[in-house]
Amino acid sequence: MSELRYNPLLGEWIATATQRQDRTFLPPADFCPLCPTKPGKFPTEVPEPDYDIVAFENRFPSLKREPETPSIEGDEIYNVEPSIGVCEVILYSPDHSTSLAAEPVERIHKLVRVWRHRFEELEKHGFVKYVFIFENKGEAVGVTLHHPHGQIYAYPFVPPVVAKELELSSNYQEETGRCLLCDILDKETTSGIRIISENDSFAAYIPFFARYPYEVHISPRRHIQAFTDFSVAEERDLAAVLKQVLAAYDRLFDRSFPYIMAIHQRPTDGSHYDHYHFHIEFYPPMRTAEKLKYLAGSEAGAGMFINDTLPEVKAEELRKLVEPVEWK
Ligand SMILES: [Zn+2]
Ligand SMILES: [Zn+2]
Ligand SMILES: [Zn+2]
Repeated sequence: MSELRYNPLLGEWIATATQRQDRTFLPPADFCPLCPTKPGKFPTEVPEPDYDIVAFENRFPSLKREPETPSIEGDEIYNVEPSIGVCEVILYSPDHSTSLAAEPVERIHKLVRVWRHRFEELEKHGFVKYVFIFENKGEAVGVTLHHPHGQIYAYPFVPPVVAKELELSSNYQEETGRCLLCDILDKETTSGIRIISENDSFAAYIPFFARYPYEVHISPRRHIQAFTDFSVAEERDLAAVLKQVLAAYDRLFDRSFPYIMAIHQRPTDGSHYDHYHFHIEFYPPMRTAEKLKYLAGSEAGAGMFINDTLPEVKAEELRKLVEPVEWK
């Protein structure tokens, strides 16, 4: 059973998804449902002996194309809606033990093209108001399957984090006539103290206001709103900067570095969002090689994050670990 319940105190939707309790939890590598199906072995999600990058619908979705009727009736205060939407899984590689960081830039480039394609396809559905592409990596962020993969949630509404960014960037444009993120990017690239890496089309930096010690944002220099605006060169340059940031992350503590990756684009509800600016945000849970950052009282209960490091110091640390990208 799944349904959307509205929180009138915060103006947010919560999805119940009780069937997800039964989903596969950290299976041994031999029983990975995301590996290619091996001859004579149990069938996996991918009935092919091999694949490159593949996207398919999640078997345990919290949003469905044809959702069931909610288990309970709503009223004036307690709004309930069917959980319509789409949940997709994107497998980055048939190799169980790799990660995006470890893959050559050519594969990351291919993934950027897949992201663009899935965005274009999901955007066509009238019920999809927002296409959210993301990755949870590592047990530290609650990953249940180790096979390298990302996800897409196609929501029937604009999610609150993006809604807030949209509102504030719209206000800023009304007041100044400029784009907030263009101005932020300008400040970051001019000062350079929080920059991780740069190329012709993108800059990666730890923002001035980072919540997490190693939070990195990647923004295009050009004022664009979604993957659909990308030029051929921008697709390649995004792959290159992603490769640099992810490889630097792995070098940091000499381990596969856990993170949440969130891609922020314009909504797909048919309105115009010329004031918005595409970007990617990484939230790594690690504070040090041993310590994790947990969301505690101030973060979870009040919304104020405490970052016990300075972005300028952490940026210098990461920047030193960036290496040039080699295209074959
Ligand atoms: Zn696998
Ligand atoms: Zn902009
Ligand atoms: Zn954002």
